[in-house]
Amino acid sequence: MASGAVSTGFTPIHSGDPKGAKQKQKTRAAKIVSLYAQPPPYDAALEELETFSLDRLKVLRGIERARLSNSSEADVRKKTKELLRKYASEGDELRRDQISHFMLRLAYCQTEDLRRWLVDQEADLFKVRFEELVHKEQKDFLQEIDLKVGVVEQEEYERVKSGLSVVHGKSSNATHRDFFKVPFEAVPSLVSTRRVFLHKGWAYVGANQMGPLVVGHFKAHLRKALQTAAKSWPHVAATDETNRLAPIVAFLSKQYLGPDYSEVKANGSSAATLEEIPALSRSHFPLCMKHLYNSLQSNNHLRHQGRMQFGLFLKGIGLPLDSALQFWKRAFAPKVQGDKFDKQYAYNIRHNYGKEGKRADYTPYTCMKVISSTPGSGEYHGCPYKTFSESNLRATLQQLHISGSDQKQVVELAKNHHYQLACGKVFQLTHNGVVADEGINHPNQFYDLSRQCCSKNDALAPATPGFKLTNE
Ligand code: SF4
Repeated sequence: MASGAVSTGFTPIHSGDPKGAKQKQKTRAAKIVSLYAQPPPYDAALEELETFSLDRLKVLRGIERARLSNSSEADVRKKTKELLRKYASEGDELRRDQISHFMLRLAYCQTEDLRRWLVDQEADLFKVRFEELVHKEQKDFLQEIDLKVGVVEQEEYERVKSGLSVVHGKSSNATHRDFFKVPFEAVPSLVSTRRVFLHKGWAYVGANQMGPLVVGHFKAHLRKALQTAAKSWPHVAATDETNRLAPIVAFLSKQYLGPDYSEVKANGSSAATLEEIPALSRSHFPLCMKHLYNSLQSNNHLRHQGRMQFGLFLKGIGLPLDSALQFWKRAFAPKVQGDKFDKQYAYNIRHNYGKEGKRADYTPYTCMKVISSTPGSGEYHGCPYKTFSESNLRATLQQLHISGSDQKQVVELAKNHHYQLACGKVFQLTHNGVVADEGINHPNQFYDLSRQCCSKNDALAPATPGFKLTNE
């Protein structure tokens, strides 16, 4: 092992490879797509682990942003290839790919939301790579991962050709290479919608229908591996890796790779003042922050997590420390009087601005961090698209004048765990159709985009009406 390098000993954290050490075969297909069934057999310097992982995160976040902005499949594919060229093509690509994937597994295995996020983004990356393979390479890969898929030979194709043309339509260019065969029970949705030809227990699947099947297999495999990692990693982190992998893994799971909102925009033209906050909350706050603001006004109090989420957001929109102290003092005043406030709450506010304790400059929460928190009874933090019941979300959308099919679309997105997509849709509906091109990844990004909409053109001032608290 090179000096300063660590073995990427991920062995206890992965799920088994059904056929043993397949990666040794190194076909071109195996270099491009992988189920990552075996831990990477490489040594790597700690700096490499961090760099490779951050680069992979940039690729995955870029893919996510393309998806959140409702790009077409072709645009997502194009963007993914650009990102891979930029962040994943330096040096030994296979080594970089495997190490970074396993590092992110460790960083994103701890909660259901993080696992779901990683599975979705990795599956999108996998899909693009799989679809890049030519037929022979797809066939090699399917054999390597032991997915029960048969190849249709010329002679067999001639026998089933007429049946295939009934389902897939007649094409003079079609050949046996355009089809694979799989056990019919592996593709229930294609069978139930009669989109495959069935013969002797096999479903004959068009090569262009294989993507979803293989991606489904990839997702199931990764989900299982993440569950295994979630159980194993805390023990490993607490002992063998306390000083090596554990700090990097902890750092990676908190990474947000968008703009830095930690700086107070004290002199910026869009820096918020104390007096502006009520109007800003009506016009420019995302739902998570409207909810906290209205809860604070109604209850004259917020618990710790709510104060952190909302206080750091206010810092990110440029509210200076002295104004923040006044804001919270006024809001709490009916319940918490002067001295008590100074003793119990002022310290934490100064702390958030880096003026107490470690004097760290605390960063406003990203959507991912907000979404991953779960409010208890009497708490109002978290993302409303996740935490609100369906009826409360509908009532809230109604207050924003979002009704009918638009409301249904937002509710469906939220129900399917696409909280940021739901938020992006609401942004569009409350900003005269303006689309947040990169999707919504950060509450402060929502706020900045909303203000930019207005400054570009006053006529584009958001149509967001007054918002009343919906009690959960
Ligand atoms: S998606 Fe992000 S910005 Fe929108 S409500 Fe949820 S946490 Fe807030």
